[in-house]
Amino acid sequence: MKCKRCATKATVQLRSHNTAFCKDCFIFFFQRNVERSIERERMFTRDERILVAVSGGKDSLALWDTLVALGHQTEGLYLGLGIGEYSSASQRAVEVYASAHDLKLTVVRLEEEEDGLGIPEAAFFTRRQPCAACGTFKRHHFDRAAHAGGFAVLATGHNLDDEAARLLGNVLHWQLPYLAKQHPVLQPTHEKFVRKVRPLYRTSEYESATYAFLRGIRYVVEECPNSHGATQLVYKEMLNRLEEKMPGAKLGFVTDFLRHAHPLFAATPDGPPLDCERCGMPAFGELCGYCRLVAEIIRRRTRAVAHS
Ligand code: SF4
Ligand SMILES: [Zn+2]
Ligand SMILES: [Zn+2]
Repeated sequence: MKCKRCATKATVQLRSHNTAFCKDCFIFFFQRNVERSIERERMFTRDERILVAVSGGKDSLALWDTLVALGHQTEGLYLGLGIGEYSSASQRAVEVYASAHDLKLTVVRLEEEEDGLGIPEAAFFTRRQPCAACGTFKRHHFDRAAHAGGFAVLATGHNLDDEAARLLGNVLHWQLPYLAKQHPVLQPTHEKFVRKVRPLYRTSEYESATYAFLRGIRYVVEECPNSHGATQLVYKEMLNRLEEKMPGAKLGFVTDFLRHAHPLFAATPDGPPLDCERCGMPAFGELCGYCRLVAEIIRRRTRAVAHS
């Protein structure tokens, strides 16, 4: 098979796009695709500073690499979740990438924050799924770092497979408020929030893994141990089976939703009206969701210690 762009031997076949590329042309195609997503959704301009949330996996590192290649002003943020060897390996991968490319990286480790809580403790003491606490922790620390650093935008590496799985879950349960918020660009609803964008929303997991590999990025291949059994994986498996029979199905599912259905669900959400009494970030009550969760964990931990 020949490269669609330069007609030399193709090394990457993309069934969903019904095309194939050689190494250099695939890298060009990938970066161009991300650039088009940024422009199409008016995510940000070259004058704006972007904080890229990097986990050490293929998607967020491929995103950072692409934004740098496209000439955007970026800095990285790594949030250490305290999940054993997975977190140590992820931090190493991010640090190696940042120093090899001379990029500024901020590392925040949950265990070293004021509350000293990693995700495993949060899950243990609240008896909830680790991913529920993790979502709250990530949102809080990303928002806080983006605000403190004066960034205009926070970019995350969610890819097409993530977006399609999330959409399927939201549609299966008709989660109307979540469908309203399912968009690659979320405008801030408070002056302490920044615009949140997902520039890889039209780029598949396979494409970002191939890009990272061809660019020589050493990312963490292992998934977070808590991801096993997550419902998202069930949706991803279903969508992969569909994609197998109908190449391009995931891309059509997500982009047609955004074009035709999202405007029917979208409503401008009210921003939180108050400031959290503990951390100062936006809140709907006295405390923000993060501080309420932390208070609950600390209360339960103190009780557990007292009874031991
Ligand atoms: S799988 Fe769950 S715990 Fe692990 S990083 Fe993702 S959200 Fe956090
Ligand atoms: Zn080529
Ligand atoms: Zn708070």
